[in-house]
Amino acid sequence: MKLKQDFFEQLTGYYQQVMPTPLPAPHWLLWSDEAAKLVGIDQPNDHWLQVFSGNQRLPQAQYYAQVYSGHQFGGYSPRLGDGRSIILGEAVGAQGSWDVALKGAGPTPFSRHGDGRAVTRSAVREFLISEALAALNIPTTRALAVIGSDLPVWRETLEKGAITVRLARSHIRFGHFEYFYYGDEHRSEKVQRLADFVIQQHFPQFSCDNAGYKAWFAEVVASTARLIAKWQVFGFAHGVMNTDNMSILGDSFDFGPFSFLDTYQEDFICNHSDPEGRYAFSQQPGIGLWNLQCLAQALTPIISSDDLLAALRQYQPTLVQHYLQLMGARLGFAVPAEQTEAEQQQDLQLIGEFTQLLEQQKLDYTNTLRQFAHVSPDGNSAALRDEFVDVVKFDGWWQQYQQRVSKVSELDAWQQARRLANPKYILRNYQAQQATEQALAGDLSGLQTLHQLLKNPFDEQPALAHYADRPPQWGEGLIMSCSS
Ligand code: AMP
Ligand code: MG
Ligand code: MG
Repeated sequence: MKLKQDFFEQLTGYYQQVMPTPLPAPHWLLWSDEAAKLVGIDQPNDHWLQVFSGNQRLPQAQYYAQVYSGHQFGGYSPRLGDGRSIILGEAVGAQGSWDVALKGAGPTPFSRHGDGRAVTRSAVREFLISEALAALNIPTTRALAVIGSDLPVWRETLEKGAITVRLARSHIRFGHFEYFYYGDEHRSEKVQRLADFVIQQHFPQFSCDNAGYKAWFAEVVASTARLIAKWQVFGFAHGVMNTDNMSILGDSFDFGPFSFLDTYQEDFICNHSDPEGRYAFSQQPGIGLWNLQCLAQALTPIISSDDLLAALRQYQPTLVQHYLQLMGARLGFAVPAEQTEAEQQQDLQLIGEFTQLLEQQKLDYTNTLRQFAHVSPDGNSAALRDEFVDVVKFDGWWQQYQQRVSKVSELDAWQQARRLANPKYILRNYQAQQATEQALAGDLSGLQTLHQLLKNPFDEQPALAHYADRPPQWGEGLIMSCSS
């Protein structure tokens, strides 16, 4: 692994140096060959086990924790920062660089009341969702490995400590900009330096001047809109969309009580600590804009209000267009890049009536959509129709749908395209929980199977087909608290 230290060298004052606290008697729980390849590591050998568990210092690395702040559940927290994540530098890979971070590596100057640790349950969830989202082609931070231990860590109960080795194209959050904007001194210069760094590292097409800052912010708006469109399309609820959990690159980031929808439920709240539903599934698009407005405020030292507002106005159209194209691919109709507003409304209505039917009839979101790979839009709808209890309602919808789908000339190719747009497998919370319990009892096979399954979500994988069954009653819509 070849490391560079651009953030460390160029942004003194934006972090504090800190060493990990060794995780005693570490062992591998999970390992991603694909993620390892991104950073040029071959094998999960003992050297890396010692390095990633904080027992051995990597000589060329500079270990540090970043400072940031953020809006949490609508209120501003003036100082957050990496309270339990320590960055080693940027690994130079063939397809770009990746920050390497040890999440759960012990206290940092930003930990305040926390212990700086992560529990196995949440480290495993972060790993699995990173792999699952990447396989669904949803932008995300990656996970290289999970390292387990017997270290006692208290949450609601006594659990065991673990470390997730996280890879991120960048760990810079909306909250980084807010921290310096709301800070005490040299606010404009500090915001500008951070923006220059982000542009030079990740947006080489833009210059560090007025025109470049404006174009860059427009791109941040667009990538955030595209990300959230994808979450809505695949039924992913993040759960804690605070501005400190929003990546400046539009990657899914900082996983806590997230959940994919099982039964379709528009207002599904996956976070036990969010009784008001601020971050309910249906609220995510609006919250994305709210968060971008917080970022825009923090960028007022370098971008005019007019330019910020103009960029923000593109959020909704970008999100809607992206959403429609992806939902069109799932359902099997083409959505042109340029649609009139009336055409968009018609498509939104057709899709909305379908999801309403799912909700009324309490159907599984993923499994029902997968049936589009087994229907013929010109005729036979049986595979899909059979999912519905009230088939009369379904037939009404199907008639409208048939009018929207153009004549299908090659049914095999059409169905194959639906198979590649509608995953058979998603990460179901109860499956992660079962596999984790099994791993904590010494048997890693359940985790390995789940990992394998999620790397190929569109494949039939017949031997594992039971993983696509609807959850048992105890596991349906299983929700998590923020504590992890
Ligand atoms: P999160 O809810 O994971 O986005 O974390 C919000 C803030 O709390 C961040 O600044 C974290 O670094 C910090 N934090 C979360 N868990 C811990 C912990 N166990 N120890 C110290 N800080 C933590
Ligand atoms: Mg966070
Ligand atoms: Mg965190």
